[in-house]
Amino acid sequence: MTDSRPRRAVYPGSFDPVTCGHLDIIRRGAALFDGLVVAVSPVSSNPEKAPLFNGVERVALLQAATRDLPNVEIEELHGLLVQYALDRQAQVILKGLRAVSDLEFEYAMALMNRRLAPQIDTVFLMTSDEYSYLSSSLVKEVARLGGALDGLVPEFVAEALKRRFQEGAEASPDAQVAERS
Ligand code: ADP
Repeated sequence: MTDSRPRRAVYPGSFDPVTCGHLDIIRRGAALFDGLVVAVSPVSSNPEKAPLFNGVERVALLQAATRDLPNVEIEELHGLLVQYALDRQAQVILKGLRAVSDLEFEYAMALMNRRLAPQIDTVFLMTSDEYSYLSSSLVKEVARLGGALDGLVPEFVAEALKRRFQEGAEASPDAQVAERS
């Protein structure tokens, strides 16, 4: 017997900001599922990642970057991911994997999520070669120091980063710590 319900996946992350690596996963996810909800977490689960863009800004950048994908929705994520996935009637949590180093954390998270909601599966997509080293943190560091971001983020994201750092983000305590280290 086949399940005729639309297959919907939730792709969670901080997306601070969206990169071409994220967009690669979103495009491939949108092709695999009937619907894909990109869920933007308001605060990163990683305390070392102080967000540069607030939730509304991150959602707006993602919306602009996925305008050509009609089955992709962008939302802010509040609360427990599996509960959110159940509420959105999703059957799948989608994750991208860059390196083996991503796996240990993702593995524990996937098992915990399965324990919390056994009806939801986590599906991992391997990064495309050219994005295997690409992370939002690295992009922010390059932008902060004035490096070129061509091919790493959409042009309007590069512009938003430039503006944000011109606004004085480099004076934030985090940036100063990074500069000293
Ligand atoms: P980061 O800040 O490290 O880019 P996010 O929390 O925004 O991380 O990432 C959201 C999801 O996207 C995670 O599943 C992450 O593994 C995945 N991801 C991030 N960058 C890439 C990439 N370059 N290739 C594939 N997947 C990626």
